[in-house]
Amino acid sequence: MSLFHDVGKIINRTKEVGILYETERWMCEMTGFSAFTLQPLAGAHGELTGIMLMAAYHKSKGNTQKKYVIIPDSAHGTNPASAAVAGYETISIPSNKDGGMDLEALKAVINDEIAGLMMTVPSTYGVFESNIEEIAKLIHSVDGIMYYDGANLNAVLGRCRPGDVGFDVMHINTHKTFTTPHGGGGPGSGPVGVNSKLEKFLPVSRVVKKSDGSFALNYDYPDSIGYIASFYGNFAILVRAYGYMLMLGKEGLKDTTDHAVLNANYIMAKLKGHYKLCFDRFCMHESVFSASLQAQRGVHAIDIAKYLIDQQIHPPTVYFPISVPEAIMIEPTETESKQVMDDFIAKMIAADELSKSNPAIFKEFPKTMPISRPDEVKAARDVKTSYFLPDAG
Ligand SMILES: *Cc1c(COP(=O)(O)O)cnc(C)c1O
Repeated sequence: MSLFHDVGKIINRTKEVGILYETERWMCEMTGFSAFTLQPLAGAHGELTGIMLMAAYHKSKGNTQKKYVIIPDSAHGTNPASAAVAGYETISIPSNKDGGMDLEALKAVINDEIAGLMMTVPSTYGVFESNIEEIAKLIHSVDGIMYYDGANLNAVLGRCRPGDVGFDVMHINTHKTFTTPHGGGGPGSGPVGVNSKLEKFLPVSRVVKKSDGSFALNYDYPDSIGYIASFYGNFAILVRAYGYMLMLGKEGLKDTTDHAVLNANYIMAKLKGHYKLCFDRFCMHESVFSASLQAQRGVHAIDIAKYLIDQQIHPPTVYFPISVPEAIMIEPTETESKQVMDDFIAKMIAADELSKSNPAIFKEFPKTMPISRPDEVKAARDVKTSYFLPDAG
């Protein structure tokens, strides 16, 4: 089927489209938005889609002066990248000492040229922003759009809906919240939800339910930003998310959130005396430590990560968020048992002890892997890929 033949048409489809329709409805229900597109292929792709919707909105309103997207300094690097790809300049807002957005700094940059704001809730510091409604008011006062980066949705699912607290558009990383494993190179998917302000700009085609209960693809949205991906993006990932939502139900999804937050706080409390904690307050689904004390002994975050590999533990994210020196960001998720977490905690404490007694040994880790310490910068910049054709002879 050619993608472009169908513009302006409604195409009848049955079951597979029904799954997509139901998935969209579930996502609307869980986030408080009125419509979703399932096309985007990753979180970053969802961000780009969302910012394009923002741009379409401003264009339709004749807001030609809109130039800037505001992004807090705790944001993931994809946020400023997406805004820039969509044609905006970005303004960075510093965080306050509790990890939230500095409101005074935000107020100082609000003017008519602000197209919108991108915010991650909870932030990459694992901190829930307590001034969302005030921030939304400021942004809406200049007809800006509030964008919710939903990468950390698993910390609030079933407890707080972004669409209810002032956001206009969001993306979900189904590979972070709706069961597909995060990491391993994908595929992921980044569905985008919107409220009624932005709905008419959503990508085509859109799934509709007809009065007789059957499903169809509707291409007849003249204000649409067009295609953002072929067909339905990563269909199989969406089916998995659908199965996960059906299996757990609304209460079960809320339960996963509660466990993700409980687990993160358990680890935070246990490691607090051993590693420097960035924000000493109740955390959401993750907490951020700094290995700055260990670094004074010559043992850096990367060394601790390599040590953990030898202990058969997949290391947590290190050196992110970038604003925290020697960052170690720990996100156990809802699925880890107490035994697994206790084992991890014991090994983290052992790493701290070892950094006092024998810091030099860390440079030898990992010892159990076929490759020990690759030059990671060179490995990323100077990629050599090759494959072997089977010997036809
Ligand atoms: C992972 C992440 C993204 C990007 O998502 P991808 O699916 O990797 O493109 C954006 N923002 C935050 C906060 C993230 O954690």
